[in-house]
Amino acid sequence: MNKIISLLFMVTFVASINIGCNRESKPTENKSNNDYMLYATLFHQQAAENRALSYQAFNIAELMLNNALRNAALTKKLAVVVDVDETVLDNSPYEARCIIENVNYPVYWKEWCEQASAKPIAGSLDFLKYAETVGAEVFYITNRREKYRAVTVSNLNKYDFPFVDNDHLMMRTSESNKEPRRELVEKDYHIVLLIGDNLGDMLYGFDVTNNENRFEMVDSLKTEFGSRFIMLPNAMYGLWANNLVGDNNDISKEDRIRLLKSGLTSF
Ligand SMILES: [Mg+2]
Repeated sequence: MNKIISLLFMVTFVASINIGCNRESKPTENKSNNDYMLYATLFHQQAAENRALSYQAFNIAELMLNNALRNAALTKKLAVVVDVDETVLDNSPYEARCIIENVNYPVYWKEWCEQASAKPIAGSLDFLKYAETVGAEVFYITNRREKYRAVTVSNLNKYDFPFVDNDHLMMRTSESNKEPRRELVEKDYHIVLLIGDNLGDMLYGFDVTNNENRFEMVDSLKTEFGSRFIMLPNAMYGLWANNLVGDNNDISKEDRIRLLKSGLTSF
């Protein structure tokens, strides 16, 4: 733990950067075009490899949950904590529409959420139902805002996700930091798994630093991945991308491409 704490002190706070997978920001005129999103979004919709990665993540989650069930030292009830967007619900159709119509988030985000038609990420539903059958409780910690609670419940209920109630669905409140919500769960439960597509779904420190530090933190925590931390792929958005271009749609296509290219490592 000392290593983790010391790394958190190394964290560089980047005030101007959108926090993690927080999908709330002010609408701005789209000066860009969204063709740069094509490959990432197609990876989610057309690559069977992406689906395989999701199954792989939830298969490992099941193994780890089974290990926890055999651990007599865990005296509190067991909890599995999952993020929602790109962890249990697939929002790639929203990204697709942004590309096709050349608009940016948050245009259509309200409409997409209200449609409550996002499909489950492969493997997520079976795993969470399994968790329920073995006595673990599922907590959904999402940075969707409170105003989207009802439609999120409706979407999750459409596929019969377990534990979809006010106690287990924890929406974003005044801050995107998920740590206080995780601490609430930890009062009564032993969190055996944290499952998400963004590293901030595991530790807040990942959400407030640059990409270089995020790599260092991942290296220092490498034994946690596939153990207590289960990562889902998300090539479409995340702090890793915001760290390159900023949380700012008000830049030209040329500037966006220049900033994105600045992140490339060549030989
Ligand atoms: Mg997410």
